[in-house]
Amino acid sequence: GIILGIETSCDDTGCAIVDTNGNILGEALNSQHLIHLNNGGIIPPIAQDLHRQNIENVVNEAYRQSGVSFKDIDAIATTIKPGLPMSLHIGTKYGKHLCRLHNKPFMPIHHMEAHALTARMHDKSIEFPFMVLLISGGHCLVAVAKDVDEFLLLGESIDDAPGEAYDKMARRMKLKNLPEYSTMSGGQAIETAARKSDNPLGFKFTTPMLFYKDCNFSMAGIKNQVFRHLVREEKENNVTADGVIPKVNNLCAAFQLCVTRHLCHRLQRGMEYAEEKGYIPQENKTLVVSGGAACNNFIAEGVQMVCDTLGYKFVRPPPKLCTDNGVMIAWNGIERWKRNIGIYKDFEHIEIEKSSPLGKRLIEDVA
Ligand code: ATP
Ligand code: FE
Repeated sequence: GIILGIETSCDDTGCAIVDTNGNILGEALNSQHLIHLNNGGIIPPIAQDLHRQNIENVVNEAYRQSGVSFKDIDAIATTIKPGLPMSLHIGTKYGKHLCRLHNKPFMPIHHMEAHALTARMHDKSIEFPFMVLLISGGHCLVAVAKDVDEFLLLGESIDDAPGEAYDKMARRMKLKNLPEYSTMSGGQAIETAARKSDNPLGFKFTTPMLFYKDCNFSMAGIKNQVFRHLVREEKENNVTADGVIPKVNNLCAAFQLCVTRHLCHRLQRGMEYAEEKGYIPQENKTLVVSGGAACNNFIAEGVQMVCDTLGYKFVRPPPKLCTDNGVMIAWNGIERWKRNIGIYKDFEHIEIEKSSPLGKRLIEDVA
């Protein structure tokens, strides 16, 4: 099979054409990142306009690169959930339009499932079931991927996602005012600043939820602790002309250490629980980490340590597959095509959803 995938759930317009063996025949991506950075966050109507302006070019570019013709493409896979409704709308409309034009079936795709499953394209040896930690701008969850359309959710964030927390912290610290960081995402900026810290333990933060017997996450407490220190530093130090405190690198490092500790602690609980319940086979333990915040090397090192300790194989797809892209949508289409599920010849009734649980989600009270 050959599937064309379209992604427009947030602020990236992506398209790719992928075959059954996971070969990327063509791919294109238009990121709105810089525009939203200047606006201090994503303004949905602006994101929608940019998707509308770019979708045709992005799809045409992936199609041109692939060298295949529409008659060789088996279906059009498109993200329909979860995400910003105005953004999802553009991709879904365009995907359905292509289906009508070329008489192809439509495959609705769940964005987070796509994040989780792309690892199987990157590393063909990954088999179900496997553990997955998804950390991005909008999500934070630990789950067992039991099958292409079956996930057991063990825990998720009760407030912000890690990427979101990084973005908010970076904005509050005014990192964008420093030329070096002006074009980076909040996550990249804080990771870069933290690497320059000469004293990551200069600020002491308490790891949240240490005594909670579940696998949920929370960023609010970390954020508040950093804010408090920031206010104190701003009062005590003469803030530079850029509005940045002199100890900003140390503060970034302490924040990052606290987030990493928290993620690792909750993940470890999830892994131990899943093993105890027999959800993960002893002889083949794999953890997949994906989502935009999985690009963070410090977090990845922490997670690697948890994997080493518990005997898990650690799989992290390359950054361009961790952040939003069309490839992961096309690949999710392939996974479904192979099993003959989620293929709709009659698709007009399929609608976007702004929030949606993972496929056939089973939630367990982890306590
Ligand atoms: P979702 O997938 O939940 O819908 P999204 O599409 O906004 O969210 P992604 O494109 O997967 O998210 O990732 C973007 C997020 O990843 C941003 O919040 C960004 O700050 C974060 N991020 C990128 N690089 C890093 C990094 N090195 N460290 C931490 N966070 C990072
Ligand atoms: Fe995403």
